[in-house]
Formats: sequence, structure tokens, C-alpha cells
Amino acid sequence: MPKPHKRPLSSRIPLRLNICISFVLFTAIISGLLWMTETVLLERLYTNSKIRETRALALSLISAYSSQSIDEFKQTLTNAAVNDQICISLYDSRTGLPYHRDVMDNKCLLHGYHNYVYLLVEKLDESEDGNITLRIFDEQIGMETLVVGYVLGSKDDVQGCIFLNTILEPVGSTVRIQKRIILIFSVILLLIGILIAVVLSSWLSDSLVRLTNSAKRMARGDYNTHFEGGSCLEVDELARALTYAEQEISKADAMQRDLIANASHDLRTPLTMLKAYAEMIRDLSGDNPVKRNAHLQVIIDETDRLTALVNDILDLSKLENGTQKPELQTIEACSWLTDIIDRYKGVSEKLGYHIHFTPDAPCEVTCDPGKMERVVCNLINNAINYTGKDKNIYVNQVNTEEGVRVEVCDTGDGIEEDKIHLIFDKYYRSENHSREVVGTGLGLSIVKAILRLHGFTFGVHSKLNAGSVFWFVIKK
Ligand code: ADP
Repeated sequence: MPKPHKRPLSSRIPLRLNICISFVLFTAIISGLLWMTETVLLERLYTNSKIRETRALALSLISAYSSQSIDEFKQTLTNAAVNDQICISLYDSRTGLPYHRDVMDNKCLLHGYHNYVYLLVEKLDESEDGNITLRIFDEQIGMETLVVGYVLGSKDDVQGCIFLNTILEPVGSTVRIQKRIILIFSVILLLIGILIAVVLSSWLSDSLVRLTNSAKRMARGDYNTHFEGGSCLEVDELARALTYAEQEISKADAMQRDLIANASHDLRTPLTMLKAYAEMIRDLSGDNPVKRNAHLQVIIDETDRLTALVNDILDLSKLENGTQKPELQTIEACSWLTDIIDRYKGVSEKLGYHIHFTPDAPCEVTCDPGKMERVVCNLINNAINYTGKDKNIYVNQVNTEEGVRVEVCDTGDGIEEDKIHLIFDKYYRSENHSREVVGTGLGLSIVKAILRLHGFTFGVHSKLNAGSVFWFVIKK
């Protein structure tokens, strides 16, 4: 069992709860921000923009007064008062004419109180730059109002003044209504957040729980487990990764089982032999140098066979479990075959074998040269082992449209027709040989696995007592 290690708190909370908490927090933060914007910022922004607009209106009225005819100006004044719901008073000291517009039925600071305008004029007089902006609570209407005043002309040459008075309070009531709306909105937002969190988390966690259960089944050795994604891209990818892992583990497992089965089947015989001969040397032939040497030779031969067998078993397992891919290269077939056969010459001629190579024109083919060399060598080794008394072996290169056909021919006993389909099987070894031949029974299985890995065609023709032709085609 792996040692438990300390996990962060978040990894101990179920995903469902994690998502719920995050969503509730998120909605709470959004609602809080909205609330703050409304209470702190909006009121201030409202008031400031109202002040700005009222001051701009005052200035535009001053410029209209100097540029428009009296009738036009009166119309402008009316429009401004009605459109902006503002009470306006303009006094021209030169003509002595006042212009008033009252939109609040005498309930404003300019028209509702007798002496208030004098007070405002005083304030305007005292002001440094000839204008005032005041927020004053009007007790008559019980609301906060805004008064903006400007002198006509300049501070040194005062020709009159203009006052505008408007209610600031509607802003406050708007804010109150909005606050209530925000409160309702926040509650709805929170409920929607929780709903989404519950749906989303169960949607996500369900697929993860399904994947976890499948992974547990796989861990118990069920390699047919289906990993179902579906909820989102990442979960899909996880499902795909787990499926891939399952395939790989299953391959490795099959290879391991295969290897154990093959090894236990094949290694038992040579190991028994080794033990038997070692015991014979200890108990019987130890003092007899001739016998002892003969027994030791058997041990050495069996050890060699054992080594070859182990190597073949490993190579075949690797080739068959699909973990190996051919490392493709483009090679020139004629010189490649010549090189391989040249390497045989020394050994084969010493033993009296003749390898005859019939080349064709140079031709480029694509294959894994290392693996394909193994194919050629295994076939030539077999041909050497099984050829007839003339000890001739023929290797032919035949260029075809598809690629290069390589034939390895011998003049031996051939293979019985009903056995031909078995010879590429693992561990098949016919007992029908003219000479005692030591082999692992895996050579042709390795040939088949390599050729299949490349997708090359191959086959064998054989005639009893006339010999066999093993062939394959390396594609261009
Ligand atoms: P091994 O040669 O080690 O027994 P192989 O897989 O190479 O294993 O061959 C399997 C069997 O196929 C051999 O035991 C032999 O009976 C038969 N075989 C292979 N090559 C030839 C050949 N050139 N001529 C006759 N029989 C052959």
C-alpha cells in the first residue's frame, strides 16, 4: 500500500461541494460589488453629474440671454425649465427686468421664500469667481435641493445674476428603488448560482465517479473496461488516456503472461538437461576425462541453446505485443542483400555450404533494415540447416512492380503439404529431418512477426525431397 501523504484541504472536499462553495462565493462577491457600486459610487456620480449639468445649463442660458431676442430667450428659458424640471430666475440690473420660470408651484428656494434670493445674491457677491453651487435642504418640500448661481457680466462689472434651483432628492429615491432591486436580484442570482452549481457539479462529478469506478475495475485486472467521458473535453481526454493506458497495460500483461508461459514451457527441457548432465559429471564421469568432456560439451551446447531461446522469446514477445514500430529507411536492395550474404561466406564455406546470390538491378525499397536483416538471416540459417547433401543455398533478388521479391531456396527434404501451414507457428518443429538440427522453433515466428509489422507479403513453396523456397516482398 502506498504511504498516505498529507493532502491539501481542497482535495479532501468532494468536487460537488467544491463547485457549490465556489459558485456561492462567486455570486456573493458579484452581489457585494453591485451593492457597493450602487450605495457608494452611484449616488456620488448622480449628484456630480446633476451639478455639472445644472452649471452648464446656467452658462448656456447666460449666453442665450446675450445673443437672443427677448422673445426667443423667453422661449429658451421655458424650454430649459420644463425639460430639466428646474426653477430659474434671471435678474438684469441694467433693464431691471426679472425673468422667472417656476416648475415647482412656488415651492422652491427662488420663488417659495421671500428673502431667500437676497441671501443667495449675498453669497454670490461673496464668491470669489462670480458663481455659487450650494446643496440646501428645502424645508418646505422636505428634500435636498441644488442651487447654482452665476453673475452676468464679470465680477467687477456685475450686470445681473441667474439662479437655478432643482431637487437632488429624486436621485436618492432612485437609489433606494435600485437598492431594493439589487437585493432581489442578488437573492435570485444566489439561487441561480446554487442551481447551476448543483447541476454542473453532479454532471462533472458523475462522469469522474464513473471513470474512477472503471479505473478500479481495470486495476483489478479487467481490461475490457469501457472508459466513458462525455461531460467535457478534459474528461473526454482523461477517458481516452485511461483507455490508452488500459490497452498498454493489457498488452504488457499479455506479454508478461506469454513470456512466463513460453519460458516455463521451453526453459524446462534445457534446464533439466543441464541439471542431469551436471549430476552425471558429479556422480559418474567426474574422473573420466573423455566422458566428462563429452558431458561438459552437452552442458555448453544446452547453455547456448538456452541463450538463443531466451533471446528469441524476448524478441518475439516484443514484436507480437505491438510495442515495436519499424524504423523505416530507404535502402538499395541489391547492395543490402550482397552485404548480408558476404558476411555468411566465411562461415558457410568453412562448413562446405555454398550460398549462390542472383541479384537483379539496383532498386530502392523502404523498410527497417535491422529487422529485415533478421528475416533474411533466419531464412538463410534455416536453409543451411535443412538443405540437401549438395549443401547449396540459393538467394534470388527479383524486382517486381510492387517492390523487391527475395527468395531463399534450398535443396533439402522439403516440407510436407499438410505441415506447411504450421511452420510459421510458434514452437512448431517437424521431427522429419534428414539431419539432427538444433533450433528454437521460433525463427519463422520471428520472420512472420517482422514481415507483418512491415505489412509485407510472404510465403513458402515446398516439394518433398526437392527443397523449399521461402519468399517475401519488400515494398518500394
Ligand atoms: P527452428 O528452425 O528453430 O526449428 P523455425 O521456426 O525456423 O524453427 O522453423 C520451424 C520449422 O519449420 C522447423 O522446425 C522446420 O521443421 C521447418 N522449416 C523451416 N525452414 C525449413 C526449410 N528450409 N526446409 C524445411 N523445413 C523447414
